[in-house]
Amino acid sequence: MGRVDSVWFGRFRPVRFGAGGFNTGPVQGLVRFGLGSRANPVVGLGFKWARLGVQADLGWECICSLCFLAFSKTHPSIFFSSFFEACSLVKMEYENQYMLTQRPKYDCLLFDLDDTLYPLSSGLARECGKNIKDYMVEKLGIEKDKIVELSNLLYKNYGTTMAGLRAVGYDFDYDEYHSYVHGRLPYDNLKPDPQLKSLLMTLPLRKIIFTNADKIHAAKALSKLGLEDCFEGIICFETLNPTHKNTVSDDEDDIEFLGSSAASDDGSSRSSPEIFDIIGHFAHPKPDVTLPKTPIICKPQESAIERALEIANINPQRTLFFEDSVRNIQAGKRVGLHTVMVGSSQRPKGADYALESIHNIKQALPELWETEMKSEVNYPGQIAVETSVTA
Ligand SMILES: [Mg+2]
Repeated sequence: MGRVDSVWFGRFRPVRFGAGGFNTGPVQGLVRFGLGSRANPVVGLGFKWARLGVQADLGWECICSLCFLAFSKTHPSIFFSSFFEACSLVKMEYENQYMLTQRPKYDCLLFDLDDTLYPLSSGLARECGKNIKDYMVEKLGIEKDKIVELSNLLYKNYGTTMAGLRAVGYDFDYDEYHSYVHGRLPYDNLKPDPQLKSLLMTLPLRKIIFTNADKIHAAKALSKLGLEDCFEGIICFETLNPTHKNTVSDDEDDIEFLGSSAASDDGSSRSSPEIFDIIGHFAHPKPDVTLPKTPIICKPQESAIERALEIANINPQRTLFFEDSVRNIQAGKRVGLHTVMVGSSQRPKGADYALESIHNIKQALPELWETEMKSEVNYPGQIAVETSVTA
């Protein structure tokens, strides 16, 4: 049996197979059958008949009948051996296409941690906000009556208050900041979540944490939730900002991605002779003054998300991004991720799905548990009407 020869395809004018329920598999099989037969001068006669039939716009059933009549009566053994080989080609082609169409839509799940894998009602977010404000007063000497407005402006414009503080000129040790802000959180409010653990452990996909928080907080929160074994890796503050002193881990047991190299400004030793007055900037905007940039890489910067995807070798088109923050969801969407809003049944702009709780994941996305998922790709039999074959 010969191989399919594109030159032979080119000899014939295009034939469109209409609504007769035809698909590419049998067509190509038939052509292969004819081409294979061409190698044999006797069987080549049947191929010639088939070609004439195609040129005459006869239906494929008619062409098959002509071939069958030609071969089965004069050379039945050659005909049947060629015919069965053609059938096996059709079958192989169908199976290949079938396997392609069975590929799951997603191969990775990217999870935010705080207020996504545990509920806002835990109270950690509230305590964290309070600790940040205390840090600003106690460690940075900021006037108490400015704290609320300042922290809101920094959070809104820079993604995290920490990133904003660095941007406007405050210099501080990142580890000390994280220790102060997270070290006193009521972690005991986080209880083991065996239900979520079971859901995650049975998901046959890559699962990765992506948090703006530091590695100590991420490890502690996951441990309290009993989810420390559920993830392939953690992308955290140190992952995206590794050059700051004391943040590159030398712990062999560290979770993957911790301390991975990533491009970053060195924020450890920058002096801050002047503090940019961001409150005044928004109260009395001047057209020639722009906001200073932050050296810290964090969500919702698109570059931060793209860097995280690069570090963990994640294809955004095949990844679901679970988040409780609308702006992070929208940034994720802009870089090509599929997005799941967690903590609200309302689907904001940029979210593909919305879950009241992460525990609803199986009800909303049951297909994630199917290792062989029927995808949106057409099956061979479904493309009959529009299939145009050059034969
Ligand atoms: Mg969050």
